[in-house]
Amino acid sequence: MATIIDGKAIAEKIRADLAAQVKELQSRGITPGLATVLVGSDPASEVYVRMKGDACNKLGMHSVKITRPAETTEEELLALINELNNDPAIHGILVQLPLPPQINADRVLEAISPAKDVDGFHPYNVGRLVTGKPTFQPCTPYGVMVMLQEAGVDLAGKEVVVVGRSNIVGKPVALMCLQRNATVTICHSKTRDLPGRVRAADVVIAAVGVPEMIKGDWIREGAVVIDVGVNRVGEKKLVGDVEFAAAAERASAITPVPGGVGPMTITMLLHNTLEAAKMAGSGKG
Ligand code: NDP
Repeated sequence: MATIIDGKAIAEKIRADLAAQVKELQSRGITPGLATVLVGSDPASEVYVRMKGDACNKLGMHSVKITRPAETTEEELLALINELNNDPAIHGILVQLPLPPQINADRVLEAISPAKDVDGFHPYNVGRLVTGKPTFQPCTPYGVMVMLQEAGVDLAGKEVVVVGRSNIVGKPVALMCLQRNATVTICHSKTRDLPGRVRAADVVIAAVGVPEMIKGDWIREGAVVIDVGVNRVGEKKLVGDVEFAAAAERASAITPVPGGVGPMTITMLLHNTLEAAKMAGSGKG
């Protein structure tokens, strides 16, 4: 039976350490500040933005929640980003996606100062990630890497199979694994013989968005399974992209859903905001 990689416990440990660092920074007159920007009133986005703001406040960080109506124009949003870029009390800017169709999300993300891009989505920071330079690492993949480290998984020489190639999860997590010397295969909806690919993996990272599509019997005996998927089934139940119970019988370690990658994402956002504030405080921001 697999060891459960407890994202909640790892997140709590990191947050306690971050809180101590926030205190230390405050003693030098700097309070890390995060601005969250929500356009429209998508209920899931509202929950995410609230959780991010609450998590900041709990750590003693400053958070500003900015909401704009769904009919906001791109120009208006760009003007707001510009204001936040120039606001010294704000070290991190997070624009909650998705944005309404009249707004070009790429243009908005590119308008965020790379020094305040705590989501790590600006092409400048993406380029730094690709070339292995220090940067703001996107929060969910970063959380995955921290979980692997906490679980004592050394990726050097391992076969890692990432299922999913989105810009926010699949691609960056694959790059980060490559950076740690894994041999990485990225699978997607056009991949032939997905079960065969997954069966060859020492580490499987699932970021698909299809409930339990990765079957337990695809998992190699002793493999490590990281399930990024969050899928709502029915009214209340959340499941991952991996058939958890069957996979747990074969894996050596596995993340649950909920309580796995989810709590890590916001934690890494807090981490990035703190780093942004430190950089601004040292004049490097
Ligand atoms: P996207 O929808 O952007 O990407 C999904 C990827 O999965 C695509 O690359 C797609 O391939 C691939 N895919 C879809 N169906 C199949 C299939 N049948 N076989 C193989 N590959 C397939 O999703 P995200 O990356 O944004 O998110 C993935 C999951 O992670 C979701 O459940 C999401 O809710 C969750 N998530 C969780 C977070 C957390 O904090 N825990 C944060 C972010 C996301 P193709 O490119 O060919 O279309």
